[in-house]
Amino acid sequence: MQWETVIGLEVHVQLATRSKIFSGASTAFGAEPNTQACAVDLGLPGVLPVLNEQAVAMAVQFGLAVHADIAEVSVFDRKNYFYPDLPKGYQTSQMYHPIVGPGEVEITLEDGSTKRIRIHHAHLEEDAGKSLHEDFHGMTGIDLNRAGTPLLEIVSEPDMRNAKEAAAYLKAIHSIVTYLGISDGNMAEGSMRCDVNVSVRPKGQEAFGTRAEIKNVNSFRFVERAIAFEVERQIELIEDGGSVVQETRLFDPDRDETRSMRTKEEANDYRYFPCPDLLPVVLDQAYLDHLRGQLPELPADKRERFQSELGLSAYDANVISASRDMAEFFEAVHSECGDAKQAANWVQGELSGALNRESLSIANSPISARQLGELISRVLDDTINGKAAKEVFQALWNGQGESADEVIDAKGLKQVTDTGAIEAMIDQVIADSPAQVAQYRDSEPEKRGKMIGYFVGQVMKASRGTANPQQVNGLLKEKLDALL
Ligand code: ADP
Ligand code: MG
Repeated sequence: MQWETVIGLEVHVQLATRSKIFSGASTAFGAEPNTQACAVDLGLPGVLPVLNEQAVAMAVQFGLAVHADIAEVSVFDRKNYFYPDLPKGYQTSQMYHPIVGPGEVEITLEDGSTKRIRIHHAHLEEDAGKSLHEDFHGMTGIDLNRAGTPLLEIVSEPDMRNAKEAAAYLKAIHSIVTYLGISDGNMAEGSMRCDVNVSVRPKGQEAFGTRAEIKNVNSFRFVERAIAFEVERQIELIEDGGSVVQETRLFDPDRDETRSMRTKEEANDYRYFPCPDLLPVVLDQAYLDHLRGQLPELPADKRERFQSELGLSAYDANVISASRDMAEFFEAVHSECGDAKQAANWVQGELSGALNRESLSIANSPISARQLGELISRVLDDTINGKAAKEVFQALWNGQGESADEVIDAKGLKQVTDTGAIEAMIDQVIADSPAQVAQYRDSEPEKRGKMIGYFVGQVMKASRGTANPQQVNGLLKEKLDALL
């Protein structure tokens, strides 16, 4: 039997407001426990919530970025349940009239192909506090700093068909929210978490299978691993004559498996009802137009432009446009050197490699876009060769010089293109290598091309790496062949 996987994601994005969604308490990460929860966040009697306009603006910007319908009127509801980290006894959310209606996101897969994933809706809600189990023996600590932090929950349609598509979708959402600046997107700090809904069905069958929901997966890699495990579990279960039950499961990254948390029967009855303390949110066209005018160029548009205007491959355009910082760095390098392909190669190759090795983000790159652009220009105008360019890059990275030109001068890396000088070096190498010359002469003609590498290496060494390698190659071949 052939199986098909069906996946839908619910992504929680922490919005980058300075204060909470219904109070003035700070949302800063990492403060001492329980120093940033005020009376409103604690739900003390007699307090009233006031909606943070910035959270509304951010939700709308997301909606506009995914071409969604924005609700003229949206309403906050109370989702009632008991849990120690939820001091009010309910979470304020949007159940029936979410602020963002249906939209869509384009994802790019590894082979450069694209696919549209529909968004069912996105709604605003508040986060709960955090239970701390590790520092307390036989007790649980509660930190309410996070209570009331604004979240945008983005619910997809079940449009993904494998783990790679799910990861690509999550990356696309991550790109959009960070481009918009509505979230820092920091998954390690919990700024983006997702619930992964997974089911399987026989290939060709239209009806969906029963799904399991894997809660709180917080990295791109874990999303893929949780899906891989869950798909296998469900297929085995069905093939052994069992059936999947609708339930909530938890992914355990240490054991690489999902475990049941609660089944449908144990699910809460949330008794949703409209929050009597908050007015419906009414948005007019002028407000939407105003926010639309503030949208930056979005990742999908950049990707498209990098391909059509700058001639980058689908792969390069996708990798570079995924992060706004990287895209802007690339654009600055390109405007300095004028060669998009070279700029893309250096940003993704030498620069990304060096940043990864030192765990630096591109925003903290020790080498500036301007410096890198100048360095590439010196390769393009033949001032230096590729090998010397890497040396200049390293020097600039280490702060040994202000500009490529300064490093080239200081280290004497200027490429030797003077034919006479190169010929002299070649003659010397040939004179010093009688055995290799004899070997060259006695070789089959088709093997000589390979043997020439030895001579090129010697000449490059003699020039301390500064000879132009193409010239060395051409001249060497002429001179050696003249000896045949
Ligand atoms: P609920 O209201 O019970 O939370 P929803 O219909 O809102 O369920 O769906 C929640 C998420 O689960 C959505 O992202 C949706 O795409 C996904 N989903 C729904 N049905 C399936 C299915 N059979 N297989 C995989 N994902 C599904
Ligand atoms: Mg749901």
